[in-house]
Amino acid sequence: MEKINSYKIIQTRFDDIANKLDIEPWIRGVLRTPKRHVSVNFPVKMDNGEVKIFTGYRVQHNNSRGPYKGGIRYSPKVNLDEVKALASLMTWKSAVVNVPFGGAKGGVICNPSKMSLGEIERLTRRFTYEISDIIGPNTDIPAPDVNTNEQIMAWMVDAYNVGKKEYALGVVTGKPLALGGIYGRSEATGRGVMITTVEAIKDMRLNPKGLTAIVQGYGNVGSNVTRLLNEKGVKIIGISDISKAIYNPKGLNLKEIDTYVSTNKLLEGYNNAEEISPKEKILEMKTDILVPSALENQITSKNAEYIKAKLIVEGANNPTTPKGDKILYDKGVVVVPDILANAGGVTVSYFEWVQNTQKEKWSYEKVVSKLEDKMIPAYKTISNLARKQNTDMRTIAYMIAIDRTAKALRTKRKTR
Ligand code: NAD
Repeated sequence: MEKINSYKIIQTRFDDIANKLDIEPWIRGVLRTPKRHVSVNFPVKMDNGEVKIFTGYRVQHNNSRGPYKGGIRYSPKVNLDEVKALASLMTWKSAVVNVPFGGAKGGVICNPSKMSLGEIERLTRRFTYEISDIIGPNTDIPAPDVNTNEQIMAWMVDAYNVGKKEYALGVVTGKPLALGGIYGRSEATGRGVMITTVEAIKDMRLNPKGLTAIVQGYGNVGSNVTRLLNEKGVKIIGISDISKAIYNPKGLNLKEIDTYVSTNKLLEGYNNAEEISPKEKILEMKTDILVPSALENQITSKNAEYIKAKLIVEGANNPTTPKGDKILYDKGVVVVPDILANAGGVTVSYFEWVQNTQKEKWSYEKVVSKLEDKMIPAYKTISNLARKQNTDMRTIAYMIAIDRTAKALRTKRKTR
């Protein structure tokens, strides 16, 4: 049985690459473990008058290349090890696309689907207050992640600035357009996934038109990547969310599904396609491309051998375990790893932060073109090196990221 702990997985991956790169022990010591983690317990008044205590975390992994950067997740499954793993991943992701940020992550243990908007607002404001001494536009910049969105970012900016008596829009990214947001941020992660998918398809000497794709997760990342891949001619034959998985080998009716989900929030109750049950089996259905865009640890030693896709592009963070990865590699499946594939989010977050600092407003076209300028060369470098060194893209992406971060640390210590 494969034991799955995301933080241990990330540390083992780091050790493997640090060995390959022959990194000095002191740099390993700095990068293997997050620099700081803060855990807060705080009260929130619920609509029924009861005061509930919530627990939240902010983990700052490393800031040698720039301020800490990373999303905030709301979920009953949030735990410190998971947040540590995701914070480390952010350091490597920023380094892969060479944006001047470090890595951080945050989360609150809560179930937003069972909370009113008012309760979520009060939780957000109080959590922001609790971590306000360690975040800031030049220190640590949160962003949206699972179950958080631009409205939650707006409450965070307001709570931070009211507390600090400042007007620092750059304290979080992924904000609404009316409050310092940037055109294209909400679709940015999905767009980056689409860009790397199209590049991988070209590498495989195929044409997107007529290829089929299955997307797991239909939130921010999954719904945008579905739409954008479809615009490139890819036929979307399966999607899933927390409530249901649906499949149609002839192609799903995306317009109808979007209308349904915008009214009903979930796929549950949508009956114009075959239901795949249990929903995890959608990963094993026949398709050319598979885009896990929901949660971590979805492709494991249990199901990797049954996966039929030739190309997997990781929209989610950590969707594949090391054993799952090995099985896919041995089968010849091409995997575009998370720290490259889903780096469109942090890239456009960086653009938003620059825009806030310079008090500018970029056009949507400029954002899209600058995102392509970052993602395509990053993809090409990694895929070319992987081919030359006869290895997988994840290994190369981690080598580039760890090497860049180690160089920054080393330079700071240089005495002659
Ligand atoms: P989200 O909350 O908007 O959407 C998550 C989706 O996953 C929802 O549709 C939910 O129903 C679905 N889901 C949950 N459990 C599921 C299950 N067991 N099976 C199938 N679907 C399930 O979150 P998001 O922002 O789209 O993030 C998704 C993933 O992408 C996460 O791993 C996140 O860390 C990663 N990511 C997000 C961003 C970003 O900018 N939002 C950036 C980089 C990486």
